[in-house]
Amino acid sequence: MTRRKTVNQTGIGRLSNIPFHDAWVAYECVNCQKMNYIQVGQELLRPDYAIENCVWTCGYCGFVHAKESDLPFQDWEEEYLSSDSTTALRFWEGFFRVATENPEAYWKQCNVCGRILPFPAFSKHSGWGVLERQMECRSCKGAINAVLNPKRTKQQLLESSVRRRIADLFVESENLSIEDLFKRFDSKCFKTGKQLDINQRDTWAIDHIMPSKYLYPLNVENAALLSKEANENKRDMLPSKFYTNNQLIELAKITGANLELISSTKPIINHNINVNNGVTRYLQVREASDLPKRIQEIKKILEVYKLTDNLSDENKRLLGF
Ligand SMILES: [Zn+2]
Ligand SMILES: [Zn+2]
Repeated sequence: MTRRKTVNQTGIGRLSNIPFHDAWVAYECVNCQKMNYIQVGQELLRPDYAIENCVWTCGYCGFVHAKESDLPFQDWEEEYLSSDSTTALRFWEGFFRVATENPEAYWKQCNVCGRILPFPAFSKHSGWGVLERQMECRSCKGAINAVLNPKRTKQQLLESSVRRRIADLFVESENLSIEDLFKRFDSKCFKTGKQLDINQRDTWAIDHIMPSKYLYPLNVENAALLSKEANENKRDMLPSKFYTNNQLIELAKITGANLELISSTKPIINHNINVNNGVTRYLQVREASDLPKRIQEIKKILEVYKLTDNLSDENKRLLGF
């Protein structure tokens, strides 16, 4: 098993023990159709060599891929399957040629996500080993570049504002009593302990403990009192990223929040909401954008949040699920 190394300055960890200079060959087993990956090292195989010498045993069914093997195809004439036949020989020649002759047909393991992917999934990098490919696949490269250059496109900003607006329509927040909130938190910033004055509205803020983008409403269980500065640091962060373990325990005591939920390091979408009300509200919003577009937007959100099961039959029909 590969293990996570310490996270580097980008905050995106690389896997140790990934032979990222090595080429791999990948083939689908002719018998069971499962993908097999073979690490061939830093020199690509010559097809004529592979045809003569390679013996690739499927890791799933044990079928041996070599020109000495009979073919396993059930609907071929018997005589074509024998390894002595010209048909089988030509088949094996093609099989090894396809897997080895074109440099673009080799595979390589990404040292960020660990997946074994075809060469074209890695950008060219001259002088970087014999394979001249980068260590990380283009997906991971995209994520790393986003850290290094966090500019978001206009389109992304628009999408995230749409998503936020939709999320807001799904959560039905209660009317929170500010006096009670101050009482619960003893008029102190829960993060820093700083004394807060209820009458100085610009010095304190209500932390949405579980962020609204994961569909949590603002209610007694989900509200913490913070100083303005502390709340600016928290923003959309999960509570587990912002509060210490002791603070999380204390927070659960004060608010009645589920400790397991607020301690989770992975975002958990709140499914305990009225999806159908949200859909109705979203489709009713008066705005210039047309209905088909809004239906597309909300469908995407429902799919990403895995909320489609909670839809009424009528809404399923309306949205085309
Ligand atoms: Zn197999
Ligand atoms: Zn990757």
